[in-house]
Amino acid sequence: MTSGTTFLDSVNRMFDRAAATLDLPPGLADQIKACNSVYQVKFAVEIDGEYQVFTGWRATHSEHRLPVKGGIRYASVVDQEEVEALAALMSFKCAVVDVPFGGSKGGLCVEPKDYNVEHLERITRRFTQELVGKGYISPALNVPAPDVGTGAREMAWIADAYRTLKPDDINAIGCVTGKPPTQGGIVGRSEATGRGVQYGLREFFRHPEDVKHAGLEGDLEGKRIVVQGLGNVGYHAARFLSEEDGAKIVAVAERDGAVISEKGLDIEALSAHIRENGGVRGFANAEYQENGKSVLEFDCDVLIPAALEGQIDAENAARIQARVIAEAANGPVTIDADDILHSKGKVILPDLYLNAGGVTVSYFEWIKNLSHIRFGRMERRLDELRGQKIIELLHSVTGKDVPKEIAQHLLEGADQLALVRSGLDDTMRIAYQEISSIWHSRNDVPDLRTAAFALAIEKIARYYTEMAHI
Ligand code: NAD
Repeated sequence: MTSGTTFLDSVNRMFDRAAATLDLPPGLADQIKACNSVYQVKFAVEIDGEYQVFTGWRATHSEHRLPVKGGIRYASVVDQEEVEALAALMSFKCAVVDVPFGGSKGGLCVEPKDYNVEHLERITRRFTQELVGKGYISPALNVPAPDVGTGAREMAWIADAYRTLKPDDINAIGCVTGKPPTQGGIVGRSEATGRGVQYGLREFFRHPEDVKHAGLEGDLEGKRIVVQGLGNVGYHAARFLSEEDGAKIVAVAERDGAVISEKGLDIEALSAHIRENGGVRGFANAEYQENGKSVLEFDCDVLIPAALEGQIDAENAARIQARVIAEAANGPVTIDADDILHSKGKVILPDLYLNAGGVTVSYFEWIKNLSHIRFGRMERRLDELRGQKIIELLHSVTGKDVPKEIAQHLLEGADQLALVRSGLDDTMRIAYQEISSIWHSRNDVPDLRTAAFALAIEKIARYYTEMAHI
C-alpha cells in the first residue's frame, strides 16, 4: 500500500470513523477494535530430502461469540498485520450478516505453485497439528475456511488431520468449513462468496435511490463490469452476473495482464484458458493488455476487485471511472482511496458486507456438521406430498390442470442447494437493507462502508453491554 498506510491501518481508521458516529461507553470501542490474540508458528517440513521452515499465523480478533471464524491464506507475501486486519474484518462481517461467530484469520507464508500436491498436503497437515495443539482449530472455538491460495482440498486435509488428533470429538468434522461436499462439506460453499456478490449487487439495484446516487439506472442487465482476479470469488461472481443477470464482463485482469472485449467475455471459456495456460494471455477474441492493473481505470458501470487488498490506493483512486466499486476481495480499497472515491460520488459496496457470502454458507455447513444431518432430509418428501395435494385440490376446484411450470415448482421439495441459496439470498438482502437504511437515515454516516462498520460495532457493543448487566 502507498503512503505508509498498511492494510491494518486502513481497517482501524475505517473502524474509528464509524465508531465516532456512535454513542458507546468509554473504552468499549477500543476493546472491540483490538485483536485479542495472535499465534505465530514456525515449523519444518521435509521437502525432497531437505528441511524447509514455514512461518504461519492464526489471529483471533474477537471472541464475543464462539467459535471464531475466518479463512486460511497461503501466499508468498503474508504477515502478521495482514492476518490481524483480515481477522478484524471477519468479526465485523459476521456481525453485519448476523452470523453468530467471532472473527479470526490464518496465513501461511507459502507459494502454492512452488510445491506439488504431496508437499502441500504435508505442509497443511503439519500446520494443522500446530494450530490444533494451541486451540486455534476446533469446532467449538476456532473454525477455519478457504481463502486465497487454499480451497476444498486443503480444508479436507485439515479436517482429516484434526480427526486423527481428536478421534473422540463427535463434532470433529465441523472443525473447518469449505470442505468438499463428499467430505462433510455443503453444496454451494465453493460458489458462495461469488454468489453473495451477485445477490448483493442485485439488492443494490433494487434500491433506485442508491443506484441514482451512483449515476446509474435500471438493473444489472447490460451493465458493463470489470473484474480483477478470476479465482474462486471473481470467477463465480463474473459467471453468475453474465450468465444470469445479463451483465457484460468487458475486462478481466489477472496476474499476467488483462483481456478486454466490448462484446463481453465468455467467463467459462476464459477460466478454462487460464487453467490450461496459467494466465489470460492468448485468450481468443479479446484484446490483451500486459498492464493488467490499468483496466481498473476503465470507464465501466461496476468494478469488481476480487484479487487482493490495496489494489485501489491514493495513487490510482482519482483515475477510477467505475460508478460502483463492488469489493469482492477483502480490503481492495485503502482508506485514502476511499476518501478520494467518496469525494467523486462513487458508491462502494464494502467488503464486510459484499463478500460475506462465504462465511454465511460456512455457517450453514457448520450447523449441518453439528446436527449430523443434511438440510431437507426430514421434510423434502413431505413438501412434495403437500404440493401434490395442492395440485389435486386446484384441479378439483377449477376443473383445469395446474400449468406445468407451477406444478413442477409445487412438486419439488427444496434440495440442499436451493436451501443454501435461499438462506444466502435472504441474508444478503436483509444486510443490504440495514446498511442502506443507516446510510440514508443518519447525517453523520456518509457511505455504505461507514454504515456497515457502524452496524457491526453496534451489534458487538450490544453484546458486551448486555453481558455486563447479566
Ligand atoms: P483465489 O486464490 O481463488 O483467487 C485470487 C485470484 O486473483 C487468482 O486467480 C489470482 O491469480 C488473482 N490475482 C492475484 N494477484 C493478482 C493481481 N495482482 N492482479 C490480478 N489478479 C491477481 O482467492 P479467492 O478465494 O478468490 O479470494 C480473492 C479475494 O476474496 C481475497 O481478498 C479473499 O480474502 C477474498 N475472500 C475470499 C473468500 C472465499 O470464500 N474464498 C471469502 C471472502 C473474501
